[in-house]
Amino acid sequence: MGAPSVEFYDVVIIGAGPIGGYLGWKLRQRGHSVLIVEEHLEIGRPFQCAGLINPGAMDRVPMKESVLSPIWGARINSPNGITVDIGSSDRIRTWSVCRKKFDEGVVKLAIDSGAELLLESRPISITNFDDYAEVVLKSRNSERKIRCALVCGCDGAHSWVRRYMRMGRPKEMMIGYQVEVTGYRNESGKLDMFTGSDIAPGFFAWAIPSGDTTRIGMWSKAELLSGKSCEMLISNLMNDSKWKSRFQNCTIIGRFGGPVPSGLIKNPLKERVALFGDASGSCKPTTGGGIGTGFDQVDILVPRLSESIVKGDLSEETMLKISKLLDPLRRKLERIRALRNAFLTGASDDELDEVFKVWSRPDVTEIINQSGEIDNPIPLGLRLLKEVPEFRSLATRAAVAVIWG
Ligand SMILES: Cc1cc2nc3c(=O)[nH]c(=O)nc-3n(C[C@H](O)[C@H](O)[C@H](O)COP(=O)(O)OP(=O)(O)OC[C@H]3O[C@@H](n4cnc5c(N)ncnc54)[C@H](O)[C@@H]3O)c2cc1C
Repeated sequence: MGAPSVEFYDVVIIGAGPIGGYLGWKLRQRGHSVLIVEEHLEIGRPFQCAGLINPGAMDRVPMKESVLSPIWGARINSPNGITVDIGSSDRIRTWSVCRKKFDEGVVKLAIDSGAELLLESRPISITNFDDYAEVVLKSRNSERKIRCALVCGCDGAHSWVRRYMRMGRPKEMMIGYQVEVTGYRNESGKLDMFTGSDIAPGFFAWAIPSGDTTRIGMWSKAELLSGKSCEMLISNLMNDSKWKSRFQNCTIIGRFGGPVPSGLIKNPLKERVALFGDASGSCKPTTGGGIGTGFDQVDILVPRLSESIVKGDLSEETMLKISKLLDPLRRKLERIRALRNAFLTGASDDELDEVFKVWSRPDVTEIINQSGEIDNPIPLGLRLLKEVPEFRSLATRAAVAVIWG
């Protein structure tokens, strides 16, 4: 009897989240054999998301059946009570989805196109050899060795692959916390955003219509919380803030929280290993959205990775070259971070109120409606800095990093 044959796949993807599913699908479209490994028993749990999918991402996957509410407008609230109403119902800006359905649907695209899915399993080692990488997988009661050309870490913010392969850390790790409620007084198709240091220091809180319920959440950075927990800040928004009357009939039916990694790690690719999505720190600094940028990474990298798999060259040198394809995306995300810091994170509550006063002027609201894009806030930011005299002082803070960064 010979030794048992070792299974070989072109690509082993660790993590069956939306990015692992999308990557598996795109690799299958290029004819590669793919194994997706997921540590949980089901896809899309635990749920940790506000559930907004931008049109740019939604257009790339046939997932409209996961939509709970189309979102076309926003009421943005300043710390001291100025409200700016933006958007119009003829232009959908983003989609509020059921993340479980969305994630399951994207992973199904990969499976239906021929990828294999292994649930309740996780890697315990990755070893590179000359011609392949060997991944040892631990399932409930067993271990097995898989060989592959490439290992992809799509295993989320605390990525085991990133830590095991010593690939560094994302620049910023925000924390998000959210409750799902019934009874919130929202306007159909509009989300609410709340700012202020006693609600979401340096960032913002939200109320997002999601079908019969509303998701109320906030995000910030640990170092800005001054010892308060995210739960305390949400409770403050709902029970003690200027906006508390909007929440008076709310019943909380679920609570979720999680990290939001932002700021791509220096080299998301190394010999026979590539990181995608939250594992690489690709969430957007302005919104925390990670699905659109994760899809972008896949679309940017897959053609070259596929060529290299076919050629049998996934050496350190080649992977670092392929990694450079991400430079424009990295620069864009850094410019967005600079704008966020100038307009939001670096502003005091009083300064924010001044900004809102200007935003609420009809001429400025018109600029926001014309140029505001959730996917890409840079054109709007630059127009505001250029065309609105009151923002000139902000320009000194933002311009260098935004324009030349
Ligand atoms: C409160 C909050 C609100 C958010 N709101 C939005 C939003 O509105 N829109 C948006 O686009 N983004 C949002 N995000 C970010 C978004 O949730 C992530 O960017 C997105 O889920 C990233 O997808 P991913 O596939 O990279 O990682 P994940 O969705 O985290 O998926 C990783 C998968 O890998 C699995 N896994 C992890 N470790 C292992 C292992 N060792 N072995 C096997 N499997 C493993 C996990 O079980 C999971 O299935 C939000 C985040 C938070 C915290």
